[in-house]
Parts: sequence; structure tokens; C-alpha cells
Amino acid sequence: MQCGAAIVGRSDKRYCSDPCRHQANNAVKQQKQNDSRINQINAALRKNRSILKQLSPQGKTTIPRQYLALAGFDFRYLTQLYTTQKGNAYHLCYDYGYLLLPEEKVLIVNWQPYMDKMELG
Ligand SMILES: [Zn+2]
Repeated sequence: MQCGAAIVGRSDKRYCSDPCRHQANNAVKQQKQNDSRINQINAALRKNRSILKQLSPQGKTTIPRQYLALAGFDFRYLTQLYTTQKGNAYHLCYDYGYLLLPEEKVLIVNWQPYMDKMELG
């Protein structure tokens, strides 16, 4: 069943040996942990995006960084990093993003198509 070895014994036996069964159980457990992490990060990204959208319904907005934190923004997660030639790093969550500004402020922006262009060479 698991490793391909022939199974000897009861007809409902699913694994050839205890190590084989443990390995299979561990694989299921690992898969669940991975799925849970993916779901958790996806949820955080969606929340980040909705916070950015809520705080900046139209175009660019400058606000204190704390507004994001208070709304539950999770700064660890982003979908894309866009760095301008001047070195400004836009942290994007799908179609919204922010740039950290001095004095604990952030500039919220809408994603722009040029942010997806690959830098070649
Ligand atoms: Zn086996």
C-alpha cells in the first residue's frame, strides 16, 4: 500500500510493517501542517489586502504606519516586492501595496502594471 512491498497477513492490513505505517502517518501529519500554514498565510494576505484597500480606497494615501498595525496588518507577508531605480521598495499584497516612509508613516499605493515587468540583465 505505502511502499509497494507485498503485505502479508490480514486482508485489511494496510502497511507492510510498523515503520511503514509510521512513515505514512507522519506524511499525513506533515501534509496537514503544510496545508494549515498555507491557509494561514493566505488568510493573512487577504486580510492585509483588505486593510490596504479600506485605508486607501482611491489612489495614494499617506497614513501613520500604526493605522495598519492597529487594523491587524501582518507586515511579515506580501505577494511581491517592487524596488524602484531610486531604491524605494514597494511591498505589495496583490493589487495594493505600501512604501515605508520616514516618521513611521506609510504611503499606500495601487499596484501598477509596470511593477510586474521583470528586470533583465
Ligand atoms: Zn510498506
